[in-house]
Amino acid sequence: MTKHIFVTGGVVSSLGKGLTSASIGMLLEQRGLTIRLQKLDPYINVDPGTMSPYQHGEVYVLDDGSETDLDLGHYERFTNSVLDCNSNFTTGQIYLSVINKERRGEFLGQTVQVIPHITNEIKAALAKPAGENVDVVITEIGGTVGDIESQPFLEAIRQFSLDKGKENCLYIHLTLVPYLKAAAELKTKPTQHSVGLLRQIGIQPDVLICRTERSLSRDERAKIALFCNVHVESVIEEKDKDFSIYEVPLSLVENNLDELIVRKLSLAKAGPLNLDRWRDLLHRLRNPEHEITIAVVGKYAEHRDAYKSIYEALDHAGVHNRAQINIQRIHSETVERDGPERLLSAVDGILVPGGFGERGIEGKVDAVRFARQRGIPYFGICLGMQCAVVEFGRNVLGLERANSTEFDKDNPHPVICLLDEQKTITDKGGTMRLGTQPAKLAPGSRAAQAYGKEEISERHRHRYEFNNQYRQQYAAKGMQVVGSSPDGGLVEIVEIADHPWFVGVQFHPEFKSGPTRSHPLFAGFIAAAVQRRKSRDQGIGERG
Ligand code: GLN
Repeated sequence: MTKHIFVTGGVVSSLGKGLTSASIGMLLEQRGLTIRLQKLDPYINVDPGTMSPYQHGEVYVLDDGSETDLDLGHYERFTNSVLDCNSNFTTGQIYLSVINKERRGEFLGQTVQVIPHITNEIKAALAKPAGENVDVVITEIGGTVGDIESQPFLEAIRQFSLDKGKENCLYIHLTLVPYLKAAAELKTKPTQHSVGLLRQIGIQPDVLICRTERSLSRDERAKIALFCNVHVESVIEEKDKDFSIYEVPLSLVENNLDELIVRKLSLAKAGPLNLDRWRDLLHRLRNPEHEITIAVVGKYAEHRDAYKSIYEALDHAGVHNRAQINIQRIHSETVERDGPERLLSAVDGILVPGGFGERGIEGKVDAVRFARQRGIPYFGICLGMQCAVVEFGRNVLGLERANSTEFDKDNPHPVICLLDEQKTITDKGGTMRLGTQPAKLAPGSRAAQAYGKEEISERHRHRYEFNNQYRQQYAAKGMQVVGSSPDGGLVEIVEIADHPWFVGVQFHPEFKSGPTRSHPLFAGFIAAAVQRRKSRDQGIGERG
């Protein structure tokens, strides 16, 4: 029978519930168990796909095309959990499903209510990732205990253990133990209050994970245990990690969290913990042989989470190439204002990520021109590829005003235009070309070399595409289509062969990169950037 772990959060938001849940998943997997991760989000949007990255950070896309919360990115990077449309539910999705049932008359004349109808729907969602071969489902409850919005979710996880048996469910509460400088001590009261709120609604947490900037003393742990009604060994410290998020699982192991979970849920199948690969990863992170700077030129540069998977994938490629990567987040509007020379001359590689809307586009196009003309390694992702096509059209092919019809509808040279299948779509949510699609690569291309094969599949999220009418013109001047959909109809990858490394992809490779398995294109991009840095250093050396 599948066991269930529920991870709730208290005191403040942004405590890292996603990372902690992913770390727990990773530890259980390294003990030989099969796990699934899932997130419940309390907001009313049906999915985060319609939310601005300013509101919600990156939208993380799964193989099946689900547009999900960025925490699912942590889940995939830390574990092998299968993730699909059953891995992320929002309040909006739950209500939509209940209301659709009501419209179909499925409630047979009953009054439809939060309890039991909404909570039943949530419980059904909680059970979906379970199955014969799944040992543990870890469900993270978004929001903070005490929020009005998350109450139905908390009520549902409370009821869940009545249905499935207390011995099959474990409640883990992540909380903050702040350090007060004036008093020179750690304060346990917020944790006591937060657990008090949980107990009021009938949930007694089994394990407390305490985020803290200083180590908890034995006395402090004993105090938390006493006031929160848990055993002292169930008070786990999770100290802030400045160096890398990949340190989190190791710090939880130091506090015996994996053993505690295995014991409390009687997971008899669990074997010994094997962290060799993880320790090797941290060793490589700590001992780089090169140092390079990569500029990420985007519209949401100031938002830490808007390009989360891109930043992570760059780090993974750094580990792969033994390079420490300093990421320079550059706002594309600053490039428009100050020009690329001042901002981009010293970098070793330029990446333009995905995006929507016209703001900042000209700055991205300028950044592409700079990379192309100066021979700086360039990686364009989705909108970043479209900008590369626009730039090449304008400045190499002389197609005046060339643009994407997303930004200029009546353009004389619509080098990027709407996909045929998109022309009649008016709804916004879940209507793009989404999820994993296969592509074939041109033999001998840089992309084919990087992947080491000619058939690939990658995740997508876009409405616009390369306009096929221009293919030959582009090829004649050196921008080749080296990847396309299997029938050849949709352009997936463009390259400039006569350049140290210039690749644009219509898909999102960042969603398939992991710390111990860097994505081949990111690895290739960073290898080229390391090469550039080396030759520049040598050049300076020779001149000096
Ligand atoms: N806005 C562009 C499109 O819809 C690019 C999308 C993206 O970068 N994800 O095609």
